[in-house]
Parts: sequence; structure tokens; C-alpha cells
Amino acid sequence: MLPVIEQLYQLPSFRKEVVSIDDDFFAGKNLEDSVLYQLKATFKSRESFDKPLNIKALANSIKKPEGGRMGENELIDVQEFINIFFDALESEVKGSKYQSLLENSFGGFLSYELISKGCSHSNYRSELFYTLGLTIRNFKNVNESLANFVEGEIIEEFLCDDCKEKKDYLKRTVIKNSSNHLIFTLKRVEFDLDTFTNTLNGEYFELPLTLNIQSYTQQHLSKNLGQKKDNDEESKEQYNSKPSSEFEYKLAGVIVYQGTMKYGKYYSVAQNREDGTWHKFDQKEISKFDPNDLPAETFGGKQSQNTCAYVAIYDRIAPEDQKDD
Ligand SMILES: [Zn+2]
Repeated sequence: MLPVIEQLYQLPSFRKEVVSIDDDFFAGKNLEDSVLYQLKATFKSRESFDKPLNIKALANSIKKPEGGRMGENELIDVQEFINIFFDALESEVKGSKYQSLLENSFGGFLSYELISKGCSHSNYRSELFYTLGLTIRNFKNVNESLANFVEGEIIEEFLCDDCKEKKDYLKRTVIKNSSNHLIFTLKRVEFDLDTFTNTLNGEYFELPLTLNIQSYTQQHLSKNLGQKKDNDEESKEQYNSKPSSEFEYKLAGVIVYQGTMKYGKYYSVAQNREDGTWHKFDQKEISKFDPNDLPAETFGGKQSQNTCAYVAIYDRIAPEDQKDD
């Protein structure tokens, strides 16, 4: 879990928001059980950048779904950990003035769409996301995987409730909007139907240093379809007014897994957003990292040694102002 906490610490806006939470907010709570309080304490207690974070108390504040508390050295699947951790934070801030804590830094919306090819009765549903899962198999980079993610499929002869006639529909999921930080989780763990076990897919998968997500957004894809959306004027206006720089991101952090399906470790490489330098956060050791080594250390595809990215964090190049400022 340390590699995740280190990545979050590196995000100035998130870190500042956590550290600036009033102590009053925790009044009457059992502080040992408060994941948010312990995260704040962990961030505040860092003496210097080159000293690893002490996450013992934070780990012990996190309840595992199967019971018991998280151990600081527990080897837990990184995606599973992010889900547990974000859920815990979210339930603590829910309904309070801090309820947008995660949304401010990571929250985006996906649009689930059922677009009729034969009438004007299409269906759109939005859902908040903090992380996006990327399929690795058969794709060689983030762009190929995202293109596939938004492609969708044709559903033939689907009954339109309004027309009472069967129409062909395009069913797809696209990015409606995105936040200053995009967290991609890479689906490197695959279920093998022959052996009924999970296997690690260490194949080559490129993380481009800069990424433009415009082609995968609702704004762009609706234009291509020539669709007019009547039921969603507000979001359309919001998105249309955004400059193209809105969609430009750069790679700024990667959580790497080194090992086999059974034995291994995670570590993080991340950019210090304040001075631009990169560091490697390996267990209890922090060292300088040369971003030129990103392909070799994070893209995978090496036969001899299994080292590959599990999580990639992209920063918007021109961050929009915090919504609550
Ligand atoms: Zn219809």
C-alpha cells in the first residue's frame, strides 16, 4: 500500500486538501479508526522528501473486507487496495464539507450510452469514476486500449420503448469529463480458463509520456456521430467551452510490480510536481529516478525479469482551477 500513498502524497492539490482538513472534523471520532485522520497525520509527519512515509498507523486504520486490519507490508493487489482505500475515505467525508475530496483530484464521469440508429430515442447515463481500468491483452499502448474501450458494439433489433419498434443501437461507454489526475489501472492479472487460476500478463504495454484523450470523449464522439443530444444540454455546454488543452495529459507517476503471480513487490516511480524531478520509492528507500528509464522499468515485455506497470497516473498539463476555490 505504500506505493499508492506515495503517489497520492506527490499530488500537491490533494495533499494540501488532506492536510488542511480541520481537526474539528475529527472531534468525537475514534482516531485510530479514521483513515482520513491517519492519512492527514501521515502526510503531515513526513520530515523530508527523501524519508519514506511511515504508514503503520494509516494501515491499521484500514479495515479489510474479509475482516481484520491492513498491515503496512501486506502484499495486496494494488487495484483492490485503491478501491478499499478510496471507499474508506469516501464514506468518511460523505455529507460533509469535504465530500468532494476525491472528486476534486480524481473524479471524472463516464457516459453509458445506448444510441438509436433509427430514431431519436437514445439513452444516456452518467457515472462517477476515480480510476479507469485498461485492458492490456491485444493492445500495445494506452491509446489503442482507450480506443477499444469507447468503441462499443451494435445491438441489433432492440425494442425502442417510445416507438414500440425494433431499432439498431450503438451501445458504448465514453469519457464525459475527466479530472486533473487520471488514474489508469492496467488489467495485468488475467484469469486463465484452462487452469482456473489468475496469471500475470507481463507483455509490453506502452505508457505514452503525453496523452491526448479528446478522441475518447463524449464531446468528440457525439460530433462524429452527428448526434444531437437534447437531454444533456448542461454537460454539453460545459464540455464545448473547454479548450483543447483540457484533454492533454502527461505521465507523472507509475506503480510498478516486480515478480511473479505469487511472489513480488510493488514500488512507485513518480515526479515531484513542485520541482519536476523523478524518484523511485522502493520499500524503505527513495532514490533519484531517470524518466528515460520509464520504458525499461514500466512497459513490461521483458522475458528475463517480470517488471511492469500496474497503475499509471497522468496529470492534466494545464490544470483547471479547483472547483471549490
Ligand atoms: Zn424510438
